[in-house]
Amino acid sequence: MEKADWIWRDGEMIAWDDAQVHVLTHSLHYGLAVFEGIRCYEQADGGAGIFRLKEHIDRLYESAHIALMDVPVPREQVMDACRRIVKENGFKDGCYLRPLIYIGTGAMGIAALENPVHVMVAGWRWGAYLGEEGVRNGIRTMISSYRRGRTDTFMAKGKICGQYVTSILAKREALKMGFDEAIMLDTTGVAAEGTGENLFMVKNGVVRTPSLGSSILGGITRETAMELLESKGIKVREDSFTRDELYTADEIFMTGTAAEVTPVREVDHRQIGTGKPGPVTETLKGLYASVVRGEISDYAKYIDTITF
Ligand code: PMP
Repeated sequence: MEKADWIWRDGEMIAWDDAQVHVLTHSLHYGLAVFEGIRCYEQADGGAGIFRLKEHIDRLYESAHIALMDVPVPREQVMDACRRIVKENGFKDGCYLRPLIYIGTGAMGIAALENPVHVMVAGWRWGAYLGEEGVRNGIRTMISSYRRGRTDTFMAKGKICGQYVTSILAKREALKMGFDEAIMLDTTGVAAEGTGENLFMVKNGVVRTPSLGSSILGGITRETAMELLESKGIKVREDSFTRDELYTADEIFMTGTAAEVTPVREVDHRQIGTGKPGPVTETLKGLYASVVRGEISDYAKYIDTITF
């Protein structure tokens, strides 16, 4: 990653190289911290625009609430920190933003309810998460041997750092086996999501995605995708589907802030549809790319514009 000038932490901008933590930082030992991933795009009419900033910061605070962490600063200040990271680092052509709320030093018992809670926001340039080629032609996936945890124990609605160990293991397994990404089932055996993306399938013109009541993150791109498809008269059904329904789908795609809209061309060595991104995926991919760049005025409400 290319260094930027500034990182925001606990209310102030500090030099990138000074943004260090002590080795006894509680979150480093046990994984309780919460984060967000936000994208900022160069806008068609100038400036840079942070996409759905409010929704991301709301989810960050929801993650903290789930994790029983008291955030010492108000939401508006973290939103402002995101804007400052874009502006003061000169990210005119956009960037990826990473807010993180973590538990500092003090007690080393696992609860650490009295330890200080810190908030930071960094930004860097990040291209296509699953590769330009993958976004253009589709990625190759496998059904992971790792399952998304049950909803009574795995807090799927929170972006809680420690929970990403399952995603990391699934992703490492997939890469080592020569695939681009893993698709995780839940513990009942139905499809849940990717390691950092929500999952959609299309069959006979019907678009389906697992419901929020299952072990998935409530993806902001997932919600945007549903809204954009519905604006084109394509209704999305929220229900469960199996791995063999995936094998025989006409189209599969994944959505995420980092992954945007990425077509899937293969699952477990089975070609999906024609092996090329299908019409629903292509329509959505094009529409999403226009919306995030501020090219469609109906969605200007989703963009927080930064001027330079
Ligand atoms: N699922 C998981 C597990 C994720 O980490 C992400 C990335 N935040 C997503 C889905 C997609 O969510 P979003 O569209 O809000 O980025």
